[in-house]
Amino acid sequence: MAKSPEQEHPQAAFGWAARDPSGLLSPFKFSRRTTGEKDVKFKVFFCGICHSDLHSVRNEWGFSTYPLVPGHEIVGEVVEVGSKVEKFKAGDKVGVGCLVGSCGSCDSCHDQLENYCPKMILTYGAMYHDGTMTHGGYSNMMVVDEHFAIKFPQNMPLDAGAPLLCAGITVYSPMKFFGLDHPGIHLGLVGLGGLGHVAVKFAKAMGVKVTVISSSPGKREEALQRLGADAFLISSDTNQVQAAMGTMDGIIDTVSAVHPILPLIGLLKQNGKLVLVGAPDRPLELPVFPLIFGRKIVAGSCIGGIQETQEMIDFAAKHKITADIEVISIDYVNTAMDRLAKGDVKYRFVIDIGNTLKEA
Ligand code: NAP
Ligand code: ZN
Ligand code: ZN
Repeated sequence: MAKSPEQEHPQAAFGWAARDPSGLLSPFKFSRRTTGEKDVKFKVFFCGICHSDLHSVRNEWGFSTYPLVPGHEIVGEVVEVGSKVEKFKAGDKVGVGCLVGSCGSCDSCHDQLENYCPKMILTYGAMYHDGTMTHGGYSNMMVVDEHFAIKFPQNMPLDAGAPLLCAGITVYSPMKFFGLDHPGIHLGLVGLGGLGHVAVKFAKAMGVKVTVISSSPGKREEALQRLGADAFLISSDTNQVQAAMGTMDGIIDTVSAVHPILPLIGLLKQNGKLVLVGAPDRPLELPVFPLIFGRKIVAGSCIGGIQETQEMIDFAAKHKITADIEVISIDYVNTAMDRLAKGDVKYRFVIDIGNTLKEA
């Protein structure tokens, strides 16, 4: 008979898990593997709530397994390291994002693009090498192969820095890869949520001109004055969209729900690139003619490799980029999920795991 999550491994752990597609989270006891020779074990202090956690606990993408302990914006402190660990020692601050494993031998892995390895292992809801399910950071402690652990910069706040481990790298990586990362570029950012608001900060630190494309008129002042965007337009306002047609070199679309992309393609210059990172649960409509007339590109991008995640967080520390957060206790997590579903957060919930998660 299969072992229960509590018995699979020798190290007792606890967290909060969803048990079914209602997505309702509740206390959950499970276990983590022995700290292997290349593993770091760390106590979790903070974990961001990514919209992917919400999609996952509610099985909106159709591949969730339960019980599911979400969380892939995880920051903590190392308490134990295996005998062959080189990057970390006890007491170090450490971060883990969306990935905890990959095959290590395919072309993507060789290119430091573990995020495109066909056998990449997600931080939660995936099968680990040993055949057991991975569980994320809404939990007291993690055991992770040091290759997938990020050295958390000294001067970065643990709570406001945590969201960079997913939200940050997901927008940083396509800016770099698609050449949207330098002065002279005009970048559109669609959706001013967790991903979108850090994208504004990264783009501005890179000297890029930024236009936020939002469905929320109430976010205008903040986008322009606090986040430093150069322009703000409402995606449903045809006059505003018309006035900006053909002006953008690239657009990063972080929207979590189905929405029209025809206006976005229109905003691009010739050869412009629309990069989709938001992951709605149903397909978007792709109009072909406006792509042909303009040689425009529609692309996707998935988080980033481990080396690039380290580069991103070091860049963020240098430029003092963090997320705008609302710190919550674990008891508030279900309310936070409901608020996130309604877009009622500015701009990332971060759970204070260290002080509020208690063994039930
Ligand atoms: P979020 O904080 O909820 O932000 C999403 C934003 O999209 C909202 O703030 C809102 O911005 C806009 N939006 C939401 N519903 C909309 C609708 N019906 N029509 C138009 N705009 C809408 O979510 P997030 O954490 O940033 O994540 C965004 C998406 O990226 C999710 O689907 C998530 O799963 C995905 N994701 C992908 C990757 C990857 O590797 N590709 C990594 C992380 C997350 P405005 O109010 O400004 O319109
Ligand atoms: Zn995420
Ligand atoms: Zn691989």
